[in-house]
Amino acid sequence: MENLWTKNLRDIEPYVPGEQSKEEDIVKLNANENPYPPSPKVVNAIKNFDCSLLRLYPDANALPLKEAIADYYNVSVSNVFLGNGSDDVIAIAFQALFNSSYPVVFPDLTYSFYPVWCSLFNIDYKTYAVDADFRIHAEDYKERNGGVIIPNPNAPTSLGEPREFVEELMSYNQDSVVIIDEAYVDFGGESCIELTKKYENLLVTGTFSKSRSLAGMRIGFAVGSEKLISVLEAVKNSYNSYTIDAVSIEAGRASILDDKYFRSTCNKIIQTRQRVTQEMRAMGFTVLDSQTNFIFVTKSDISMYEMFEYLKTKKVFIRYFSLPRIHNYVRISIGTDEEMDILLKEVKGFLK
Ligand code: PMP
Repeated sequence: MENLWTKNLRDIEPYVPGEQSKEEDIVKLNANENPYPPSPKVVNAIKNFDCSLLRLYPDANALPLKEAIADYYNVSVSNVFLGNGSDDVIAIAFQALFNSSYPVVFPDLTYSFYPVWCSLFNIDYKTYAVDADFRIHAEDYKERNGGVIIPNPNAPTSLGEPREFVEELMSYNQDSVVIIDEAYVDFGGESCIELTKKYENLLVTGTFSKSRSLAGMRIGFAVGSEKLISVLEAVKNSYNSYTIDAVSIEAGRASILDDKYFRSTCNKIIQTRQRVTQEMRAMGFTVLDSQTNFIFVTKSDISMYEMFEYLKTKKVFIRYFSLPRIHNYVRISIGTDEEMDILLKEVKGFLK
């Protein structure tokens, strides 16, 4: 007989991240990580960190990092919230800002963590289908809702919408909080951080994991009105005051202060992406016009699942989602030119 206490255990289907293989010599293009190291200034900040300080709790407000982000985006410190990666920031935002009897709404094809958080926090949700070209239409989000969350650019489709899209979205959603998840915006998308000054109910989230090569450090942030940020702070301080550790505060700040390095690595990734897009198209693949550090790819006459499995045997890891509408697509993160050459060579081998 089953023990009664097992009935009290939480039964939840978690989010599954891209495989983190321990194998050596793999080409890892499955988690949208940055192929370049973080800025040398970040490396110096970590090397020079005074480890004796680790006996103390970090600044709960992570002020040096908040100040750097506030200056960078031309907002006040009171408009910035920090978390342990943007997953943490968004999870806190779900708990803090989505407390309505109406469902939270997001696209059907999007970041698959959103439904998981809804389930974890008992939030009702509803999805609106992206169109046949995977575009999101603001007018679909007119119905009364308990909050909106949309990644822009979207994942895994890689498509970005212009700032007017967010303006239109805000015009239909004056009675709920709208979150725009800008995890990939630095690779050619249009940020709407500036619009947080115009709309008190708009929250924009960002991350140091992709464009700043700091996925291993776990730094995420949000920019929004003082009202929204103060509620996020209250929820965060109700379960963990110290989400940003002392080393991350210094490393994150150093990253923001090295804009030249940041821009040069983003540009390199954009250029590699454009080249790989063209080469894959020349091989007969359909590649969506990406504004991210990954491409979303299909070929109607072959199985993308088989290609994904084949590439794995060649130590090239990409991402496959067994989901309706996109079961014959793969998502390929943009690596260095050398890594992408290996990918292209192995894809050619697969086609033969
Ligand atoms: N939003 C989107 C759309 C993402 O793809 C990711 C990365 N998995 C995140 C947020 C979270 O990234 P992180 O927690 O590393 O900041």
